[in-house]
Amino acid sequence: MTDDQDGVTFERLGLRPELLGALGALGYEEPTPIQQEAIPPLVEGRDLLGQAATGTGKTAAFALPVLERLTAHRREKAPVALVLLPTRELAVQVSEAFHRYGKDLGARVLPVYGGAPIVRQLRSLESGVDVVVATPGRALDLLNRGSLDLGDVATVVLDEADEMLDMGFAEDLEAILDETPETRQTVLFSATMPRRLDSLARRHLRDPVRITIAKEQAAAGEAPRVRQTAYVVPRAAKPAALGRVLDIEAPTAAIVFCRTREEVDSLTETLNGRGYRAEALHGGMSQEQRDRVMGRLRGGTADLLVATDVAARGLDIEQLTHVVNYDVPSAPESYVHRIGRVGRAGREGVAITLAEPREHRMLKTIERVAGAPISVQTVPTVADLRARRLDLTRASLRETLLDGDLDGFRVVVESLADEFDLVEVALAAVKLAHEAGGAVEDDEEIPQVSFRPDSGKAPRAGNGGRDAGARPRRSAGGPAARLFVGLGREAGIRPGDLVGAITGETGLTGRDIGAIEIHQRFALVEVPAPAADEVIRALKATMIKGRKATVRRDKGPA
Ligand code: AMP
Repeated sequence: MTDDQDGVTFERLGLRPELLGALGALGYEEPTPIQQEAIPPLVEGRDLLGQAATGTGKTAAFALPVLERLTAHRREKAPVALVLLPTRELAVQVSEAFHRYGKDLGARVLPVYGGAPIVRQLRSLESGVDVVVATPGRALDLLNRGSLDLGDVATVVLDEADEMLDMGFAEDLEAILDETPETRQTVLFSATMPRRLDSLARRHLRDPVRITIAKEQAAAGEAPRVRQTAYVVPRAAKPAALGRVLDIEAPTAAIVFCRTREEVDSLTETLNGRGYRAEALHGGMSQEQRDRVMGRLRGGTADLLVATDVAARGLDIEQLTHVVNYDVPSAPESYVHRIGRVGRAGREGVAITLAEPREHRMLKTIERVAGAPISVQTVPTVADLRARRLDLTRASLRETLLDGDLDGFRVVVESLADEFDLVEVALAAVKLAHEAGGAVEDDEEIPQVSFRPDSGKAPRAGNGGRDAGARPRRSAGGPAARLFVGLGREAGIRPGDLVGAITGETGLTGRDIGAIEIHQRFALVEVPAPAADEVIRALKATMIKGRKATVRRDKGPA
């Protein structure tokens, strides 16, 4: 981040030392495009209308300016910033981000959402907070109880505003905004800009700076000849999934892009543990260290480079066959730039992206900008992997046979042939060769998840103020499947926990989820029938309220 490289740095954006320290510790090397564009006007106090999807770094784009303007170790009770967003998952995620960035400023951040005990939230408000991160339903509830004082709010952020409108929060948003000072700064982020959102923006934003992060006119047609594949993987399964994909692809030389230095270091270690010769490359290394790493890759003593964008800038590696995006890049331009490193001079290149279920929109945008289809596939199974490894063994045996010069081994085969059948002798030799290939046995189960088949957004009428914790209504027709989840009231399960777990682990959003019934020992939840298997797999693989649950289709009467 404090680098010799050209380009915009967090320092140049003028952020205070406490924030620079936190960002450095997190391993952020440079601001993402949306951060470069949004942070300066937001620090100045301008209103902002930003079109950006998850994965662009938009959270830091609005959180850093709020923290930049915050009085360090402030003592007043009432919050100076209010972030409104559609789901509990997002509330937790965004408040954690504020917390991480604002640690050295003593920022007091409170997530507020339905489905969590209100008493604790009341107590925290009572003892004083700087930033409230809330779902609209619960925020309004607290306002109505007189427990949330918005009189000092200097900044309101509406995050994933289109989702909030889709979930029927329009009136709640109006009511909440009415309780904040007119002089406030208003920031609105949304992945799409439907007309209803435009009118909300017109009413509540003053002369906003407009930022669109997916510039569709860029780069189309420049796309190199590259086979592009994306695998949808839950975050926790990414290291295993990457290992398996690499085993199948068997790249000659690959570069794996990560977002942060920490990720580069830990992934390098994981890959080395898996038998790859991986080298880390990031902005925290000296020029000499980098040169050494590049030398090893060029000389063939390393086959994988794990790098951040900053560190890989300007690198041109002749023999590179694969580019891997360990995360969906924060901007389509960065994707196009990364994969431009392969597929040169008529050779085929391969670009692989590991995407989390919730990143489907960003991937769609990238596909448009890159101007070439990205084929979405599920991670190879253990059986695929075995078949592929046997293939490789067969290929190397074939090569050895064609090469000839085997006479020196004849005596071994002939002496064994007295005792064993020739085919058996061959089988044993194949086994030895196969195992000598150094394959690590891999039988870890990687959950098979996919994006929601239809990620387009159907327009939908508001349904009054419902929180992610209240019982959601089913939207757009379509057959529903009822699932049995073996945790209920006794385990402290509330509807919001199920909505959170499902939306967090699959491509579904809150509005796809139907009726939820919580019983003493179990819960029933309706999901769209085509997504039922995906939801079952995802819920089985995750913890709900810290516990594993039995999940299956409900067989009881509807
Ligand atoms: P968001 O789009 O806000 O959900 O952010 C996506 C991910 O990018 C999060 O995991 C952030 O921690 C990470 N991130 C945000 N900004 C940066 C940055 N400048 N450098 C590296 N990672 C970042």
